[in-house]
Amino acid sequence: MPTYTLIDTHCHLDFINFDIDRDEVLQRAKLIGISDIIIPGVSTSNWDKIKTLCTHNKHLHPCYGLHPYWADQHTESDIKKLAQFIDNNPCVAIGECGLDYRQGQADKNRQHYFFEAQLDIAEEKNMPVVIHSVHATEEIIQQLRKRPGLRGMVHSYSGSYEQALQLIEIGFYISFGGPITYERASKLRAVSSQIPLSSLLIETDAPDQPDTSHKNQRNEPAYLENILSTIASLRQEHKNEIATQTTSNAMALFNIR
Ligand SMILES: [Zn+2]
Repeated sequence: MPTYTLIDTHCHLDFINFDIDRDEVLQRAKLIGISDIIIPGVSTSNWDKIKTLCTHNKHLHPCYGLHPYWADQHTESDIKKLAQFIDNNPCVAIGECGLDYRQGQADKNRQHYFFEAQLDIAEEKNMPVVIHSVHATEEIIQQLRKRPGLRGMVHSYSGSYEQALQLIEIGFYISFGGPITYERASKLRAVSSQIPLSSLLIETDAPDQPDTSHKNQRNEPAYLENILSTIASLRQEHKNEIATQTTSNAMALFNIR
């Protein structure tokens, strides 16, 4: 067992990909030092399963939200449902919510509607937000600037160094996962080595975004070890130091003890 503890700050442990061996997955996560896992909500249909998982294991922490990837399926009433669900079921953050400007994704206005509505809920309830941003970091920053005081993380960060500094300045954490283990991701790797450690988080985004040594396989929390090692070597800092600081960042953001 390692001497440090880690927190996987973004893992879809509720997804059916883990239905056959979720206990073993959690066991392997524990062996590499993972103490806690943050599970983001993606649509009304997965909130109950997340709630059940987290009720039975106090090291799993729920978020509830509406992911932009399913924006075509979310309805306006889902926003009201979200606000009510959060009032009745404790969670550590709103999300994941955000904007995904890849080809084939839902209409941008529709995505904005759900994103902004969730930022409003987070602001109103004074809760952190978990943000998904693909080719939309500039728009995300614009929206966050309108809501000073809002805190949160941008998960699987893919923006520039300058944008990361802007996000940090307005109180957001920057989270890195599998993509930084690919050598061709030189810009992203540079960002992860340049931003202050006090604003950095690590995640797997499992079952998606496996690191380079698990390419095309199902990702799982135990592979967080590879993210930690990559960041340690890119920053030329000790794994222990990075583990300690990123874990304390996650605990502060999600109010975990
Ligand atoms: Zn996610």
